[in-house]
Amino acid sequence: MRKINTDVLIVGTGVAGLYCALNLNRKYHVTMLSKKSADECNTYLAQGGISVCLNKFDVDSFMNDTMNAGMQLNDKDAVKTLVLESMENIDLLDRLGVPFNKINNGFVYTKEGGHEKNRIVHCDDITGKEVFNTLYSIVKSLPNVEILENAEMFDLNLVNNLCLGGYSIYEKEILYIVAKITLIASGGVGGLFKNSTNQPCLTGDGIGMVNRESIKVSSMEHIQFHPTALLTDKSSSKRRFLISEALRGEGALLHNSEGERFVDELLPRNVVAAAIFKEIGKTGSPCVYLDISHKGRENIRKRFPKIYFQCLEYGIDIAKDRIPVAPSQHYLMGGISVDLFGRTGANNLYAAGECACTGVHGGNRLASNSLLECLVFSRRAASDMMKSITSVGEAYKDYISDKVFSIEDGHEVSRKNRLEVIRMIKEVRKDLENELVDC
Ligand SMILES: Cc1cc2nc3c(=O)[nH]c(=O)nc-3n(C[C@H](O)[C@H](O)[C@H](O)COP(=O)(O)OP(=O)(O)OC[C@H]3O[C@@H](n4cnc5c(N)ncnc54)[C@H](O)[C@@H]3O)c2cc1C
Repeated sequence: MRKINTDVLIVGTGVAGLYCALNLNRKYHVTMLSKKSADECNTYLAQGGISVCLNKFDVDSFMNDTMNAGMQLNDKDAVKTLVLESMENIDLLDRLGVPFNKINNGFVYTKEGGHEKNRIVHCDDITGKEVFNTLYSIVKSLPNVEILENAEMFDLNLVNNLCLGGYSIYEKEILYIVAKITLIASGGVGGLFKNSTNQPCLTGDGIGMVNRESIKVSSMEHIQFHPTALLTDKSSSKRRFLISEALRGEGALLHNSEGERFVDELLPRNVVAAAIFKEIGKTGSPCVYLDISHKGRENIRKRFPKIYFQCLEYGIDIAKDRIPVAPSQHYLMGGISVDLFGRTGANNLYAAGECACTGVHGGNRLASNSLLECLVFSRRAASDMMKSITSVGEAYKDYISDKVFSIEDGHEVSRKNRLEVIRMIKEVRKDLENELVDC
């Protein structure tokens, strides 16, 4: 086992991990891990945009939309924090250079299901890629940050409920990372589903690791299915390509196989997905159809270039053809239980982003609230980490682990993490048993 020391260990290079690193004082040495390449994360795939509170008169409306979509199961304090701190974080992204769509120097806001009004900032239909590229290029250039790609973390190092880093498989050896503070930002669980819009490498590893240590995880039953994932047999990818909700926000209509409309397209995701499942059951067709052709080729190509060209590759011209879609696993509302500063049940162990459960989404996430949650709460975690870090002292560096792993052990523990998450999901969602992969 190779041992390294660092001040802060961040597991994940999606928006939650990167934004946390960016908000830490430069005097701290930060080690970041990604399981595959740094850009193989859900952040990179995000299309629609990021919700933001428009002004002080929008606070109640944005909170209501979030709580209504969440079936009122949300943590109200977390929702309030999300809404009130949304503007400052979007302004910061803007200043950092994320190329949001603008008109006369102001943001162009779009709408998605469940939102009362247009309040979503975006970069065409590649918002996540632009956010990732901007944050990654800044963080990568910071002298205090080291990013290790293809470094799969598989276990935590907990001593009397104090987290002192963990273990990963890196360059064919076990890397034992001793850290004063650890942030888990390892994303969702889509890789455990046969049908998901997520990156296949995202298998809930952080959640599995934490749960194996009996640190609290909650709301694992709250798993979101996105209503409109492309249904095609032409894709070679294991991942289902998403047709963003923003299409419906801009007027796309849903029809069943008989050409009839059957749902208000702008209702929250869970409602639209349930209506589609019902329609599929009724008609026997494997999909329903999304139609945006009435918007005209130029408009569509300009507003949704990624979706337009990706569909063309699959032989679907969305400027004239209907798009075959069906629901697909998309997002986990539950995860590692955290407070409003990302603190978990173990000392000096934080979690942020999709792997964490702040309670902000309740039973169903409102469209475009995920990237916002990552920003707001990973920045809060960074601020709290800088307070707790001083309590560790330097003695931690001499800590000798009593765990010794071979590479084979590392792979076996990784598998245990996946099995743990599958077990947790099966326990609370018997209906999803057949949707899960074998490990
Ligand atoms: C197709 C698609 C479109 C979306 N569109 C939107 C949108 O428009 N707006 C919105 O708000 N949300 C959207 N979402 C949701 C949003 O993108 C994600 O919830 C969000 O990006 C999660 O960010 P994150 O930093 O928590 O995790 P991710 O960005 O998924 O990053 C996870 C990181 O953890 C690392 N990791 C995982 N396991 C390990 C391990 N064992 N060891 C080391 N590293 C590990 C990965 O390598 C990766 O770097 C979309 C999601 C998808 C899939």
